[in-house]
Amino acid sequence: MTIYEYRCPDDPPFEASHRIGEAPDSLACPSCGKPSGRMISAPHLSKSGSPAFRLIDSTHRSASEPEIVNSQIPGTPRRVQSYSSNPLHRKLPRP
Ligand SMILES: [Zn+2]
Repeated sequence: MTIYEYRCPDDPPFEASHRIGEAPDSLACPSCGKPSGRMISAPHLSKSGSPAFRLIDSTHRSASEPEIVNSQIPGTPRRVQSYSSNPLHRKLPRP
């Protein structure tokens, strides 16, 4: 079920829940009974502070404004390159 908004010409907008694709274009106003047209509105992103929303937001932002990284992230252990102790590997070509 999805919540749709309807606007009565005389009363404040009201909401009604219908299945997606089955919402009528107009409903009778619960106050006065006049036909009220369905409004096109932005989806309710009620979880705007959630990690999922922040990820979506940063992904959209990084598409046009990539974050510049000047240093390693503090607190992360420095990556230690593992070398082989086999003496035969010393003869292999180096990049
Ligand atoms: Zn009304």
